[in-house]
Amino acid sequence: MHELSIAMNIVEIVEENAAAANCKAVSEIDLEIGSMSGVVIEALQFALEEAVKSSIMESARINIHEISARVKCIACAHEFEPEDIITPCPACGHPYSDDIQGREMKIRRIIFFEE
Ligand SMILES: [Zn+2]
Repeated sequence: MHELSIAMNIVEIVEENAAAANCKAVSEIDLEIGSMSGVVIEALQFALEEAVKSSIMESARINIHEISARVKCIACAHEFEPEDIITPCPACGHPYSDDIQGREMKIRRIIFFEE
């Protein structure tokens, strides 16, 4: 399962950060997941529930922020939210556009427990 390996990777990164900060527990993390990242948020939430067990994140609150897709037409520079993977420009009909946002998959913030 794709999301399980992502969840395990997130836990690994958080544990590395916590070790570097000399912290033993994480209270909260914020994730940013783009709607075009290929990650199914519900599946990721489920995978994280498993992945955090007996990790430093076990009691952490996990906030997942979905970043909506946004692209820019390469012909007329019109910016729009695509409905599908390939959506022609609604202003001029050109089929190609550049991504502005929507493919993110990152940890925005980690909050450690204060000692
Ligand atoms: Zn256009």
